[in-house]
Amino acid sequence: MATERTFSIIKPDATKRNLTGAVNAVIEEAGLRIVAQKRILMTRAQAETFYAVHSERPFFGELVDFMISAPVVVQVLEGENAIAKYREVMGATNPANAAEGTIRKKFALSVGENTVHGSDSAENAQIEIAQFFAGNDIVG
Ligand code: GDP
Repeated sequence: MATERTFSIIKPDATKRNLTGAVNAVIEEAGLRIVAQKRILMTRAQAETFYAVHSERPFFGELVDFMISAPVVVQVLEGENAIAKYREVMGATNPANAAEGTIRKKFALSVGENTVHGSDSAENAQIEIAQFFAGNDIVG
């Protein structure tokens, strides 16, 4: 297995409840390394670009409003098989279907307010990391 990097967002429902450290603890316990991290308030344009793939979905407006409703923490995570590994650690999109021990099972409030984002492919990880970090912001 290769060492990979994936892109993560700790979403507004979590930052509002002061859960950044609690989420990071689950990430680190899973063997992933946080190699870049910053807390930002996304602009509407940033959120719309980030979720452009969902722009035709009925929940798009709600999703963008949610993502700009409070600060988020954007992160780069590194580790063996990090992209698939983090998807596992996050749990299912809908917390009702998330496995025990996953971040979404522990913390998510609903299918929309579901605490974290993680890239779903190597290609998207690269695109998403580049939207928020320059190469020299990432220190492995
Ligand atoms: P993910 O890769 O597990 O985050 O899931 P998706 O790519 O399918 O969806 C992206 C994000 O859109 C999810 O994490 C949710 O925050 C949001 N989302 C998905 N489905 C719904 C929905 O039915 N309602 C709302 N409000 N948001 C949704």
